[in-house]
Amino acid sequence: MRDMRRRKFWGWGVEGGGPDEAVTRPLIKRACETFGIAAPEAILAPQIGEIALPANRIREGADSLGRCGATDDPLERAGHTYGKGLRDLLRAFDRDFAAAPDLVCYPASEEEVVQVLDTCDRHGYAVVPYGGGSSVVGGVEPRGLRERYPGVVSLDLSRLGKLLDLDRESRLARFQAGALGPGLEAQLRGEGLTLRHFPQSFEFSSLGGWIATRSGGHFATVFTHIDDFTHSIRAVTPAGIIETRSLPSSGAGPEPKRLLFGSEGSLGVITEASMRVLRRPVFRASATVAFQDFRQAVEAARDLAQSDLHPSNCRLLDPGEAMLNSVRSDGSAVLLVAFESADHPLGPWLDRALEIALGRGGSVAGDTRVSEGESDRAGSGGAGRPEEAGQWRRMFLDAPYIRDHLVRAGFIPDTFETACTWSGFEKFHAGVKEAVTDALDRVCGGGMLTCRFTHVYPDGPAPYYTVIAPGRPGARLAQWDAIKEAASEAIDRLGGATTHHHAVGRDHQPWYLNECPPLVADALRAAKKRLDPRGILNPGVLFDRLN
Ligand SMILES: Cc1cc2nc3c(=O)[nH]c(=O)nc-3n(C[C@H](O)[C@H](O)[C@H](O)COP(=O)(O)OP(=O)(O)OC[C@H]3O[C@@H](n4cnc5c(N)ncnc54)[C@H](O)[C@@H]3O)c2cc1C
Repeated sequence: MRDMRRRKFWGWGVEGGGPDEAVTRPLIKRACETFGIAAPEAILAPQIGEIALPANRIREGADSLGRCGATDDPLERAGHTYGKGLRDLLRAFDRDFAAAPDLVCYPASEEEVVQVLDTCDRHGYAVVPYGGGSSVVGGVEPRGLRERYPGVVSLDLSRLGKLLDLDRESRLARFQAGALGPGLEAQLRGEGLTLRHFPQSFEFSSLGGWIATRSGGHFATVFTHIDDFTHSIRAVTPAGIIETRSLPSSGAGPEPKRLLFGSEGSLGVITEASMRVLRRPVFRASATVAFQDFRQAVEAARDLAQSDLHPSNCRLLDPGEAMLNSVRSDGSAVLLVAFESADHPLGPWLDRALEIALGRGGSVAGDTRVSEGESDRAGSGGAGRPEEAGQWRRMFLDAPYIRDHLVRAGFIPDTFETACTWSGFEKFHAGVKEAVTDALDRVCGGGMLTCRFTHVYPDGPAPYYTVIAPGRPGARLAQWDAIKEAASEAIDRLGGATTHHHAVGRDHQPWYLNECPPLVADALRAAKKRLDPRGILNPGVLFDRLN
């Protein structure tokens, strides 16, 4: 069972985890100075004893669910009420857990998952599949479900985390879907293998959640989304089991497993997946390139994305982002370029990448690095020089903890992300910046907006924006909703992706329904009707409107 005694029920990570006050205090001081405000009193983290949870209404079927690890422990119910987005934190700080599930179930086998779905289907209870609970889009939140269903069950897959089979010859590893990132990698490490999928939420997100949300890993080109690593999937639906055939590729009709990619718990509960694993990289090469002109840096990132060099990292930080991440604070944009291989030395790749970047006006900032040997640095992607890579990685993993500190100190820190074409980027970026800056001025009296490219494709980048603004006590949820709406509307109007990797959930639904062709949304609704006739699976996400 998930260790809810250690995991925070209201925020990111574990109690006592993340950087200590010696790190966070100066950051908060700097944020206050930036916005010219006095340091506010930090909001106290909620204690479980202060939370008034709604009653557990489930009586019928309770015995059957009890045999599948059901609990109505307040800490469990509170800990499964929200994901880990800003909206979640703000409501947790308001001590608002009115949407809590009635029960949390921890099945220990696929048979128990079947039993939970059968019981809930019989009694008309809603079921919200729960992997690591790191959704930032209202994906695991039973929003509006208590009003519509006589019972709500959060189905936590964390007891299903084992490596079931390893086909060394085909390099396929079959895992139970509840495996969290570190546990999954630990089971491969002894074999010299890795899945090499490192979302920033790696520590507290699961394989099933990655597949259900089409998560994006840390690596910038080629294999970016979890789809690329997924060989076959097994899932339980109220109508039966789906198991896709073990094939490296097939041209036979629409690909069955694609129905489950990004299905966000609304079409079935993913219980197992066979994953394409890789030999652990030993050769690395990396460099940091600074640009005075952001436009030239964008051109360099584009040239690299189109070069067929396939860097593992090609992360472009605009000047604000470089400063925020303590990588550089002289007003230049920074391109972190890195290569990894289990097979061959990468010096020539780096040389060519630098030739491209310098040809666009960049200058090498510090040493370049070419190395050979094992590394445990999940998520570093070999980014930049050692100290910069170390700095970047620390910020990468600490950022969610720091975000929680900023929220407690009264700020509005959040991110949103998208994708667009290279030819459209300049206009797109300007339009998004204008809309969000305007919203920040209107609702917060100002704020900071920075941008980085998390992924680059031959046809376009995935821009990722960070917002930090001073909040008004009691008004921050409404303030953030106004900023987020302005961002999402601009992205939609300018033709970008509603989301590149954060998923749709409940928060992005209106914009997703604009992006998804209406006939496709109807076809998905028909598929749901076939797989989930009583509409019990994660109602209200994606194409499934609650009203
Ligand atoms: C600090 C932070 C950093 C993040 N960084 C990234 C990032 O780099 N890349 C990225 O892509 N995302 C990122 N995210 C978003 C989030 O981590 C991803 O969406 C992740 O894939 C969710 O996995 P999870 O196991 O936590 O799923 P959950 O949050 O538990 O669930 C997400 C959705 O998937 C469904 N689901 C979960 N498990 C299953 C299952 N077994 N079967 C069917 N449906 C299921 C849920 O019902 C829900 O709709 C970040 C989030 C945070 C808080």
